[in-house]
Amino acid sequence: MTVLLKAAPIVEKHTKILKQKTTSLSLKNVVPCLKIVLVGNDPASKIYTRNKKRLSEKINASCEIIVLNEDISESDFVNKLRKLVENVKVHGILVQLPLPKHLKNVDIHKIIPPEKDVDGFHSQNLGRLMEGHFEDSFVPCTPKGIMTLLDFYGYNVMGEHVVIIGRSLIVGKPLAALMTHHHATVTLCHSRTQNLEYLTKEADIIVTAIGRPKFLTRKHLSLTKIPIIIDVGINSLPNKKLCGDVDFEDIIDWGMATAITPVPGGVGPLTILSLAENLLIAAERSIYEMES
Ligand code: NAP
Repeated sequence: MTVLLKAAPIVEKHTKILKQKTTSLSLKNVVPCLKIVLVGNDPASKIYTRNKKRLSEKINASCEIIVLNEDISESDFVNKLRKLVENVKVHGILVQLPLPKHLKNVDIHKIIPPEKDVDGFHSQNLGRLMEGHFEDSFVPCTPKGIMTLLDFYGYNVMGEHVVIIGRSLIVGKPLAALMTHHHATVTLCHSRTQNLEYLTKEADIIVTAIGRPKFLTRKHLSLTKIPIIIDVGINSLPNKKLCGDVDFEDIIDWGMATAITPVPGGVGPLTILSLAENLLIAAERSIYEMES
């Protein structure tokens, strides 16, 4: 039977641990503080930021969503970010993507320093990830959440062939580095990959992060190798329901996965959990910086 890799029990367990950490920090007069900058009215971004705030508050951290007008000028946007960076009480800053077209060329990570980059996208944090040094950097939230998920359900990636579909800087590439660090053999695929079905049929673990509803079907799988499937995709169907990059029903009906993440309720909540974990690390580090 296919195991359903739900996020809920993981989030519940880790929320308790994070709450204990915020209590310890409060004894040192530190309240982890996250600022989320949301430009415009994109409905999906509103939901994502609201969920991030919700979990932050659940662990007794402070979280403010700063909503900026869709037509804010580049200089006003940059100044807003600079002000947040200067505030020593702010431990983490994230800009909710996507940004409106006229702000797309702003290099956010030239403004948000690596120590407040709780998303883990700053080149210094990504560089540390490539080097395999995690102790003084932030690991991007979705890849980190996927590792938490596999660990919770008792799956070790060592020696496994992991096929990742999607090579974005926020999911595919950092996940490939992280999995490699954990001794997986990684094949990173994208839109120009030839013979994708051949590769997925050889996989022990498949991760889809492409943004194409129900893209991965039984034709990508073989009857001899039954993989674990991690579906990162979040897609809106015309009926407003969410679905992943995997044709979940098709795969389940045919019993072609050892385990599979649902959408919603799989990778998404773990991305948010990782953000909360990174925020607490940032707050803890701020104490060492104050003391040194
Ligand atoms: P992205 O930046 O648009 O990248 C998509 C990747 O998929 C690209 O590398 C692209 O290849 C590849 N791709 C597209 N069509 C393909 C095809 N037919 N065959 C093989 N590869 C294909 O996307 P993203 O930001 O990584 O997000 C991907 C999905 O994950 C979206 O649905 C997003 O909403 C979701 N997401 C979810 C979470 C979460 O927490 N659950 C977090 C982040 C993103 P090329 O590079 O060749 O163009």
